[in-house]
Amino acid sequence: MPGRTVDVAIVGGGIAGCCAAFHLASRGVSVALFEKGAFGAGASGVNFGGVRSQGRHMAEMPLSRRARELWDRLPELVGTDGEFTPSGHLKLAYSPADMDFLERYAVEAREHGLVLELMGANAVRERHPWLGPEVVGASLCADDGHANPRLVAPSFAQAAGRLGAEMREQSAVTAIARDGDAFVVTAGEGAPVRSRWLVNAAGAWGAAVAAQFGEPVPLEPIAPTAMVTEPLPAFMDRAVGICGGGVALRQTRQGSVVIGGGESAVDMEAGRARPLAEICAAVLARAVRAAPRLANAQVLRAWAGVEGDMPDHLPCLGPSLTTPGLVHAFGFSQHGFQLGPAVGEAVADIVRTGAPSVDISRLSIGRFANA
Ligand SMILES: Cc1cc2nc3c(=O)[nH]c(=O)nc-3n(C[C@H](O)[C@H](O)[C@H](O)COP(=O)(O)OP(=O)(O)OC[C@H]3O[C@@H](n4cnc5c(N)ncnc54)[C@H](O)[C@@H]3O)c2cc1C
Repeated sequence: MPGRTVDVAIVGGGIAGCCAAFHLASRGVSVALFEKGAFGAGASGVNFGGVRSQGRHMAEMPLSRRARELWDRLPELVGTDGEFTPSGHLKLAYSPADMDFLERYAVEAREHGLVLELMGANAVRERHPWLGPEVVGASLCADDGHANPRLVAPSFAQAAGRLGAEMREQSAVTAIARDGDAFVVTAGEGAPVRSRWLVNAAGAWGAAVAAQFGEPVPLEPIAPTAMVTEPLPAFMDRAVGICGGGVALRQTRQGSVVIGGGESAVDMEAGRARPLAEICAAVLARAVRAAPRLANAQVLRAWAGVEGDMPDHLPCLGPSLTTPGLVHAFGFSQHGFQLGPAVGEAVADIVRTGAPSVDISRLSIGRFANA
C-alpha cells in the first residue's frame, strides 16, 4: 500500500525533533515525526533541567541567545511554562585561576550580548550565604535559569500535533531509502512515508543516520547522571555550576534539589543508561562542597540518560553536505535542552528559506568531513 507523502519526516522525538515539528507545523509545513519510545523520554526528559547560556562555547552562543528568547515565550507557544524559572545561574570559582577563567569568559560572552556579573568572595557570600566556605568568587548570569525537562519536549509534541503534525510514538524508524529526490521512511507497522526533507534528530543514534548518508562522525554515547533530594525548605535562589564542571545544582519549585554531574554506564543496544554508585558519591561530595546544607539531605533517586557527545562538545546542526533535503540536529553533548526551542526554529528556517536566522555555521557536520 503506498504511504502518505509529507514535506518533512523527522527521526526522533526528543526536544530537537519535537521543537522542529512544532516550528515546521506552525509555518504550515506538513510533518511526520517518528519516535521509537515516548516523546521526550530520552535525554530530553531526564536531564538536569539547566537553561543556561553561561559556560557555552561561543560557536553556539547565537543559537543559545535565540533559545533564551523563546523560553520566555513558552506559555504563548505551547501553553505551559515548563516550570521555567529564570533564577539566574552562578558559576563558582574555587581558586584564583578559576576567577581568571571567569573574567576572560565574561569578556568573550559580552560580544554575544551575554552579560555576566563577576563577584568576589565577600559579595558572593553576602548575597548567597548558603554557598560553601571554599568559594572564592562567582560569575552570575541573571538571565539563565532552569526548567522541568519532563514537561518541555512533550509540550512541544502536543502543540505540534494540535497544529496538524503527525506525531507517532512507539514508532522506531527501521529503514530510510532514497527514491529520486524523496526519502522513504519505514517505521512501525504502517506503510512507509515519503518526504522531500528528512530531519535527523535521533540524539545519540544520530551518527548512525548520518553514516547511512555518507557522513560518519565520531559521536560517543555517554550517560550523564543526575539525582534528586527530598523536598527541602527553599534556600537555593540560583542554579549553580562550578568552573570545570563536575556538578550542577538547582532547587525546584517543589523544594527538591536536583544534582547533576558525572557520567555513568550506557548500553546502546538496550537504549538505556544507568547511574553508578561511585559516580553519584563523587558528585554528591562536590554538591556538598558547593552547598553544605545538602550534607543532611536525603537523595531519593538517581538516574542517567543516553546522550551523544561529539569530540568538540558541539552538536551537528544544519544541512547535510552529501544529501540534499537531509538536515542534521543531533550530538548535543550534554547541553541541548536549553538550545531545543531554537534548534527547532533553525531547522524550520532551513526547510522554509534555506538558511537559519541565527549563525549556526560552526555547528555544521562538515567539520568532520575529513575525520
Ligand atoms: C542527566 C543529563 C543532564 C543534562 N543536563 C542538561 C542541562 O542541564 N541543560 C542542557 O541544556 N542539556 C542537558 N543535557 C543534555 C540534553 O538533555 C540533551 O542534549 C538533549 O536532550 C538532546 O536532545 P535530542 O532531542 O537531540 O536527543 P534525545 O532526547 O535523546 O532524543 C532523540 C530521540 O530519538 C529517538 N530515536 C533514536 N533513533 C530512533 C529511530 N531509529 N526511530 C525513532 N526514534 C529514534 C530516541 O528514542 C530519542 O527519544 C543533559 C542530559 C542528561 C542525560
